[in-house]
Amino acid sequence: MRCPFCRHSNDSVLDSRPLESASVIRRRRICKNCHKRFTTYERLEEMPLMVVKSDQRREPYDRAKLRQGILRACEKRPISMDTIDLIVAEVEYELKDYVMEISSKVIGEKVMEKLHAIDQVAYVRFASVYRNFSDVNSFLEEIDKLKNRKEKNALSKAVPSKISKLKIAN
Ligand SMILES: [Zn+2]
Repeated sequence: MRCPFCRHSNDSVLDSRPLESASVIRRRRICKNCHKRFTTYERLEEMPLMVVKSDQRREPYDRAKLRQGILRACEKRPISMDTIDLIVAEVEYELKDYVMEISSKVIGEKVMEKLHAIDQVAYVRFASVYRNFSDVNSFLEEIDKLKNRKEKNALSKAVPSKISKLKIAN
């Protein structure tokens, strides 16, 4: 990397972190010649990463699917969208060490580790479902089922209360 101040090309990296999209890495650098600091943004090549599921089927890594799984675990929790994107970015950043393929279990464990540090409820939701369902798809299906059940319960509770209110009005 060439220093933007003195054009010297000898620098050291102070700090690297993935940005929101995770295909961009921000690096803080210091020039070894003039000692000024500067920032570079590096775009990673699109990862041709395959996810190996528990039944040994493979599918291309899908960020949207991963994000969706985390979103659902974080539903109604005090967790901002920025935090969710950061979790995705951090997980993806760690995935860069896997060149060809990665087990879906490893991805799940990474997400659990991040959620554990942020929100216990979201962690438990993700872990309880994900540990039993070794891929993101069946995890999402299970969350949908839970959601439907919850809505049904809410409905059956709502109906009697309406009825009792009507009775009072009469
Ligand atoms: Zn310099």
